[in-house]
Amino acid sequence: MIVTIKRYFNAYKYLSLILFFGLYSCAEEGEVKPNIDDKLPSDKLEKYYSYLKETGLKESEFAYNEAAQAFIIGGDVVMPLTHIDAYLEGGKNPSKVAKEAQKRTQYLVNSRQGRDIRVYIHPNVPAGWRKATVSAMKEWTNVEDCFISFREVSSSNDYDVLVSVEPTSTFDENTVAYAFYPYNGYAGNWVKINPKFNNYSASYKKNTMGHELGHTIGLAHPSDDTGIYIEGTPYMDDNSIMYSWVDRNFRLTDGDRKAVQILY
Ligand SMILES: [Zn+2]
Repeated sequence: MIVTIKRYFNAYKYLSLILFFGLYSCAEEGEVKPNIDDKLPSDKLEKYYSYLKETGLKESEFAYNEAAQAFIIGGDVVMPLTHIDAYLEGGKNPSKVAKEAQKRTQYLVNSRQGRDIRVYIHPNVPAGWRKATVSAMKEWTNVEDCFISFREVSSSNDYDVLVSVEPTSTFDENTVAYAFYPYNGYAGNWVKINPKFNNYSASYKKNTMGHELGHTIGLAHPSDDTGIYIEGTPYMDDNSIMYSWVDRNFRLTDGDRKAVQILY
């Protein structure tokens, strides 16, 4: 099954894949459509849609989620309306390139915050996911010549990133986890885990968390047309942990390390 999945994605990954395995086939069949919420006033909706499209996203690549008061981008990244409002006020319009390579978003962690990113793992996170989180934190922290450092904290009142399990009903069908991009120089402040995947193997869990933590420091999916190419990284990095699906063999590649060394 793993082989099938991998072959499948090798064939299709250049078509700007959005989600972890499975959802792409749904999208092909036209079953996954942006969840446009008609309760949001249309002029307001338009503003957010315009912004997201200006970043280079296609309408099929993001969807409004009313419960979260946020857009879900690329399947597993949460962009709250309040963040978009701030970008609109600040007049920060992102630039973009379309290359298959190490990509970042326009949202990065600043050098002060990035040196000590405090992660609070909620008690509702099962042991396997907890271990995976700690191990993924370590992997990013251990990248040489890069100041990014994740540290686990025990205080639920004082942290930068919350890792928690959220109800499966709040996820798209095959999304394993969601993450936020950095905001105001801080790491994306929430990684949400879908308990539907609690029986994932340890290595899948670790790769999932490595991937999501990568988003919290501003890394984008290599296949996303909206990402900004990180100058100096390889154009091709087939095993990058930032691909939008999970493979048990993925781990931080030299390209992934290079990306954060250059950024941070
Ligand atoms: Zn992702």
